[in-house]
Parts: sequence; C-alpha cells; structure tokens
Amino acid sequence: MAHVVPAGLKWIIRSLSVSLFVLLAWLLQFALGDIGDLRPPARSVFLERHLDPELLQRERDLQDELRDSQGEVTRQEEVQDTLRSSMDVARETMQEMTDLHRLSIEQGIAPSAERESALAEAQARFIAAQGAFEKANARIGDLNAEAYRVSGDLEDARELIGEQRTPADDAYSQALDEHRLAVAAWKLGFIVPIFALASWLFTRSRDSRHRPIFLAFMLASFLNLGLVMHDTFPEEYFKYIAICAGIIAVLAFLARVLGSAAQPQPALLLKRRRESYFKSQCPECAYPFPSERGDTFFCPACGSGLFESCGSCSASRHRLLPHCQTCGAAG
Ligand SMILES: [Zn+2]
Ligand SMILES: [Zn+2]
Repeated sequence: MAHVVPAGLKWIIRSLSVSLFVLLAWLLQFALGDIGDLRPPARSVFLERHLDPELLQRERDLQDELRDSQGEVTRQEEVQDTLRSSMDVARETMQEMTDLHRLSIEQGIAPSAERESALAEAQARFIAAQGAFEKANARIGDLNAEAYRVSGDLEDARELIGEQRTPADDAYSQALDEHRLAVAAWKLGFIVPIFALASWLFTRSRDSRHRPIFLAFMLASFLNLGLVMHDTFPEEYFKYIAICAGIIAVLAFLARVLGSAAQPQPALLLKRRRESYFKSQCPECAYPFPSERGDTFFCPACGSGLFESCGSCSASRHRLLPHCQTCGAAG
C-alpha cells in the first residue's frame, strides 16, 4: 500500500521544491555569468599591431601644429580688435581737432600750438595702429596658409591610418567572434553535462522520495541551458532549436502516456479494476454484470473471468483483485 502524504506536508514539499529550483537556477546563472566574464580581446592591441607608430606620431604632431596656428590666428584677431578700437579713438580725436581747427580759421583765430600737437599725436597714433593692423593681417594670412597646408598633410596622414585601420578592425572583429564562440562553448560545456546528469537522476528516481529534488535540479539546469542557447544562437536558429526541443519533450511524454495506456502500471490497473467492480462493471469492457450470479462468472461481452471460487475458502471471489473478500487470501 502506498504511503499517503498529508496535504499540509505536500504543500511544504512543493514550496521547498520551488525554493530549491529558484536557488539552483540562480546559482547556475551566477556560475554562467562568471564564465561569460572571460576577458574579451582589447581593440588597442590590434590597432598597435597594424598601425605604423611613426604615422600616429605624425598625426599627433600635425594636430598640435594645426591647433597652435589656429590659436595664433585667434590671438592675432584679438590684437586686431584692440588696434581697431585704438584707431577709432584716434580717428575721433583727429576729427574733433580738425573740426576745432576749421572753426578757429572761420572765426579768424589762430589755432593753438597745443591743439596742433594733439592733432599730430592722434595722427601718429592712428598711422601706427594702422601699420600694426596691417602687420597682423599679413600674419593671419601666413598662419591661415600654414594651417591649410597642415590640415592637408593631416588629411593625408589620416587617410593612410584609415587604410591601416581596416585590417586591424577586421582582425579585431574576427578575434571578438572567436572569443564569443569560446565563451559559448565554455558555457555549453558547463551546463549541458549538468542538465544531462539532472535528467538522468530524475528519470532514475521514479520511485525515489528524492524525486522533487531531482526535478528542481533538472528544471533549473534546463532553464539555464535555454538561456545560454538563446544567447549563443542567433534568433532564427534559436527558434528552430526551441521548437525541436519542444517536439522532443512532447513526443517523449506522449510515448510514455501511450506506453502506460497499452501496459498500465500495476497500481493504476488495480485502481481501474477496483472502481469497475465497485460500479458492477466488467473492468475490461465496462459491461454491467448482474448481482445475481454463480460463484464463477465470466463477462458475457468480452469473456474475461470476473469471479471464481477461492482456492482457500471456496467462496466466490473477485478474480481480478488481489485478495479474497471472504478469507483475505492472496489470489
Ligand atoms: Zn467484459
Ligand atoms: Zn477465500
């Protein structure tokens, strides 16, 4: 007789099994995460291997040069701003002095020597500032020509670097693909044996009381296997793999159900026979047998022997049940 587990205990077993599943799934996920942390190849290594260091240095030098000449242009333009404002001031002074000079001549007064010298001074200041402004203009022109030449050289250097960078990038992306494959292989190499072991333990544990533990172990490893496969295979392959795995699981389940239907388990067979006898029906074909019958009785529909004389007490006993109802002897 199978031992009956109380409902409360059943629920405790179920919830502990679920907790075990969650913890195992978590543990496996951490382990897989650590495997995934294997250091990927560094891009800089590939760039160093393929790029000419002298060319890189030249690019840096040209960049510095360009930045310097652009900075100098900005400085010269600031100088020009200052010169422009001092020229404006000198021009205003000159205008003022000239106006006063004209006014004095109109009024018949001789212009003062002081005013004459102020005018001369303003004129000198204006001319000096104009000269400096022109000089700054020439310098800016030179600097711009220089910057133009440098940026042309820089463009050439960058083009050469770009040509060298393409094989470096190709080599890097190939190394990255190889790294991804290696990580996937490590992960699968870790999780597949665990899943196989868990499945093996589970299928072997049919009558074991530890079955819920193995089930939790198997489901946790199956979940992680699915996640690894989802990460490893591109979406279009994964969908085929997932569907194939689903078909295999359903086929395995169906084969088991069909097998047990064709050849029922002893416990299931006994249950079915017990219920049929209880309902006064033939367990094989469900023909209702009469309550009035002899000690020996065969089903008139299918010919199965349903009652016979007990070998111990000779009373009529159920032929398809294990014990005699009168003396209890096993049949
Ligand atoms: Zn029958
Ligand atoms: Zn008996």
